[in-house]
Amino acid sequence: MSQPSRKKPRSEVEEVADHYNQRPEVGIKKRKESSIYRMKSFNNWVKSVLIRNHVKNGYKILDLGCGKGGDLLKYSKSKISFLVGADIASVSIEQAKERYKSMKFDKFEAEFLVHDCFGKPIREHLPKDFTADAVSMQFCMHYAFESEEKVRTMLKNVSENMKTGGVLYATVPNSYWIVKKLKASSGLKFGNSIYSIKFESKDKFPIFGHKYWFCLEDAIDDCPEFLIHFPTLQKIAAEYKLELIFKKGFHEIYEAFCQHEEYNELLYRMNVISDPSNTHDPLIDPEQWEAAGIYLGCAFKKV
Ligand code: SAM
Repeated sequence: MSQPSRKKPRSEVEEVADHYNQRPEVGIKKRKESSIYRMKSFNNWVKSVLIRNHVKNGYKILDLGCGKGGDLLKYSKSKISFLVGADIASVSIEQAKERYKSMKFDKFEAEFLVHDCFGKPIREHLPKDFTADAVSMQFCMHYAFESEEKVRTMLKNVSENMKTGGVLYATVPNSYWIVKKLKASSGLKFGNSIYSIKFESKDKFPIFGHKYWFCLEDAIDDCPEFLIHFPTLQKIAAEYKLELIFKKGFHEIYEAFCQHEEYNELLYRMNVISDPSNTHDPLIDPEQWEAAGIYLGCAFKKV
């Protein structure tokens, strides 16, 4: 008698890759109709601030967890010369390639690869002699916090492939903010009408593998994520010669940069504010503003 086929349980990495592979690329028109359009615009503005602060003309960029290539236009504006984008989700990489092909202005050279950037060394898959001037990791570093081994693989992939003096800039969920909200909530779940975060326990705080489930309307449906224990990230990063030079929550980044001429104009162009002279009243509604506060931006310099 043949054995009943038993499906192998999916690993967290497969679950994350499936999750992103199943999210279609919707195009500009549909993106504007998204219920969290303002929050997405604000998040894109924060990424633009980080990119403009750390990227110069002619730079070679390594974008780990690049997704569908949503930052390509930002890099074309920064006049980089070369970008390598890597992501574990093969469908996203195909969409990034398509987006790159359709770019018309200020085109740079680019290569895209499907790679588990936190599970495997990336060096042998990069173009020969490639050394990045800066490394980007946007909204993806928390997936590495499943284990110490993954955090080390990630940091090695960054440090080994970036020049000394180069900067790793990242956007990550702010664990301090998340845990504060968890402690203040009566159960294991908190959020509002556009996002929710659900934990499995309220009294165990492991440094690695501290899993929670994240939902964000029109973006993420119950995806497993891991808390980043920031002091540990900082400590291990230092072992890979990466020194923390910047760390601010998204709301603080707004306060710090909204009056700056260049970023103020960008806020207006990206539909985050309706009047450049009034930055006290962004167009984003309070629930999306709260959800944006989940994140922080940070940067590490290779010394
Ligand atoms: N950086 C892009 C952006 O800002 O638009 C995409 C962000 S998306 C929220 C997170 C990305 O991390 C997904 O594309 C996902 O496939 C990728 N990711 C998660 N785990 C990964 C891993 N182990 N290696 C490479 N990419 C990974």
